[in-house]
Amino acid sequence: MGRRARISRRATSRASAMATPGTSPKTRKKPFVLITGVPGTGKTTLADALAERVGAERLDVGALARSEGFHGVYDAEMDTHELAEEALLDRMEEMLASSEERGVGCVVDYHSCELFPERWFDRVCALTCVEQTATLYERLSDRGYSEKKIRENVECDIFQVVVEEAKDSFENVTVRSNATLDDMEETVRELAEWCENFKRGE
Ligand code: ADP
Ligand code: MN
Repeated sequence: MGRRARISRRATSRASAMATPGTSPKTRKKPFVLITGVPGTGKTTLADALAERVGAERLDVGALARSEGFHGVYDAEMDTHELAEEALLDRMEEMLASSEERGVGCVVDYHSCELFPERWFDRVCALTCVEQTATLYERLSDRGYSEKKIRENVECDIFQVVVEEAKDSFENVTVRSNATLDDMEETVRELAEWCENFKRGE
């Protein structure tokens, strides 16, 4: 079964199992935007700036997973934590449905995206530093990542792994270089304009 089929099947079963309806693009007044990309590409910084610009709420999925305990056992081999995915997705749906109910938009950021149902996001922006690989290397090094983890992430960016994942999982995807502050400003301006012109059904 393809990834898309897998996602939509799961999304359907989850939605039907829920007592309250989840979020739907048909009833959303303000858009939900997902910022994705390899760690260090600047998702959180850009998502904060965009949310502030358009008055949207913010959902930093990595931070949510850490603060609400959706990270399980530490995997030393992979230097990462297992993720309680279904529980995290249920919690996110609750938060997104609440934003929708209150008529506000939301800017979400996470380093992966294939786990999210397509109906959650009206627009997806994948960030990359592929044109300035040394920049990504420095950012991850400043963060104290191990040499192995830095290399893996830089390779992921070079091979556009998250970009391809986004294109495979969503329709409305744009890919933007985010190596400099000018890059970020340009992307925030572009996405903010799109958010402000967002109308249901377009
Ligand atoms: P992510 O959430 O993708 O892991 P962050 O937003 O935490 O990335 O950014 C990682 C680091 O890079 C931070 O120190 C941040 O200040 C810096 N940074 C982010 N975006 C840019 C940019 N467009 N230009 C220069 N530095 C940036
Ligand atoms: Mn982040």
